[in-house]
Amino acid sequence: MPRRLLNFLTALSLLVCLAVCMLWVRSRSRTDEFAWHSQSGNDPASATKWYLMSHEKGWIEFYRAWPRDLKVTAGHAIVAGAAAVLPAARLAALAVGTVLTRRRVKGGLCPACGYDLRATPGRCPECGWEAVGVG
Ligand SMILES: [Zn+2]
Repeated sequence: MPRRLLNFLTALSLLVCLAVCMLWVRSRSRTDEFAWHSQSGNDPASATKWYLMSHEKGWIEFYRAWPRDLKVTAGHAIVAGAAAVLPAARLAALAVGTVLTRRRVKGGLCPACGYDLRATPGRCPECGWEAVGVG
């Protein structure tokens, strides 16, 4: 998967997670309803109606009224948790990568491939990595 698409999906997931958390907090005191309509052609009867409701009782309901009824209901925590999986996984991968790179550099290994650099400090004969400012 191209990195730009992955970054976009991560940002979108994070945004959805934050929005659901905000709705979750608001759901303690009120029910929010978002509705929109999409119509193809000139026939208003063929308009598709969409609703997203954040209920006061702690759950979210997604509803599409046309052409077929579709209703999905889930708790705020489940939706927020599902949206947080990708950003959390990316953050964990970044942390693990940083720790591994630091360990390699401390141990005199190439930060890119882990090759032993004691014989050629500043340049890796295995992968071609070069330290900045050495040479
Ligand atoms: Zn290397």
